[in-house]
Amino acid sequence: MEDKRRVEERFDELEPALKDISRWMYEHPEVAFEEKETSARLVAFLEDNGFVVDYPVFGLETAFAARIGTSGPEVVICCEMDALPEVGHACGHNIIAGAALGAGAALAALVDDLGVRVTVLGTPAEEMYGGKIDLIRAGAFSGAAAAMMIHPALRDVVDPVFLGVAHIDVEFFGKESHAAFRPQIGVNALDAAVQAYVAISTLRQAMYPTDKVHGVITYGGGAPNVIPAYTAMSWYVRAATEERIEELYGKVIGCFEAAATATGCTYEVTMRGHHYSDLLSNPILSELYAANSAALGRPMGLGIDEDPSAAGSTDMGNVSHEVPSIHPMLDIKAAPAVNHQKEFAAHTVSPTGERAIRDGALAMAWTIIDLASHNRWKELVGARGAP
Ligand SMILES: [Zn+2]
Ligand SMILES: [Zn+2]
Repeated sequence: MEDKRRVEERFDELEPALKDISRWMYEHPEVAFEEKETSARLVAFLEDNGFVVDYPVFGLETAFAARIGTSGPEVVICCEMDALPEVGHACGHNIIAGAALGAGAALAALVDDLGVRVTVLGTPAEEMYGGKIDLIRAGAFSGAAAAMMIHPALRDVVDPVFLGVAHIDVEFFGKESHAAFRPQIGVNALDAAVQAYVAISTLRQAMYPTDKVHGVITYGGGAPNVIPAYTAMSWYVRAATEERIEELYGKVIGCFEAAATATGCTYEVTMRGHHYSDLLSNPILSELYAANSAALGRPMGLGIDEDPSAAGSTDMGNVSHEVPSIHPMLDIKAAPAVNHQKEFAAHTVSPTGERAIRDGALAMAWTIIDLASHNRWKELVGARGAP
């Protein structure tokens, strides 16, 4: 208990600076892989708090690894920092960064006594490309005993459902012609895109509530009096498991194929960015986090009690297939605004938004204290749902 109080006292000292960082990020949103000023600020804070920082690191310009502690198992605290185009920090990654820095820095003075190593890992581009997948491949999580982060949301849920996702671009190729004078010799690539859209919409009848396929036409033609020879679409295919994504992906490709055949076009599919995996929440980490969060006055709900269809995706899913992980969601009382709306961004700098920095940082830090002081490391690996 003594260690937890010390961490809380240290957090109290750090809290104003953490709020300042979160507010600065809110005012200066930087999108995926462009988090240059943001990462520099986060690194400066961590260096000031005694961390040894590699930056840039693992082949990504805005990634950093801030390490403290000389021996013992390593816990990686993931620090997302990217914003969204047009809506800024509407996913609240400024809160994630504040909590990650706060957890690490509040623990800094205790790690050697606890026998634990803590790495605050700056993980770029969660919203678009999946920076954590590059980091996994570069070895950022190799040998880690656990990984954790928190995420602002509409509910307090310790082990939320996150779906896997594949990002697909498709192009249709036809033949241009005068749309009034000689439409007969044209091959209309917009018709192919529309057919594909309708075919996938029809497919929804055969989907599970956790299957999500959604897309847009990114290029639909140049002029109404020219039969479009080229169109392009972007699609996301999401499902609860890897196997189901494969299955659904096959059906979506079938819709592209059918649309191309029906219109006389050809088509080409390209995968964009990385494939995100579903999230496996480690039960021991979840239990410890939930108990610590409840002690802070924020009792956590369970993913199983939530609407399984109200789920997005995260590259933390991929981490959770490599290392025992948690990704609790923290209510910032933004409702009726939801993540990815401007109004949600505004709530990240409200008192309830900033409360999530505190509760998230302390519950993560206290969970690390529990793991180290009761030597729970070995249990993590054998636990249900563990990788
Ligand atoms: Zn998001
Ligand atoms: Zn997010």
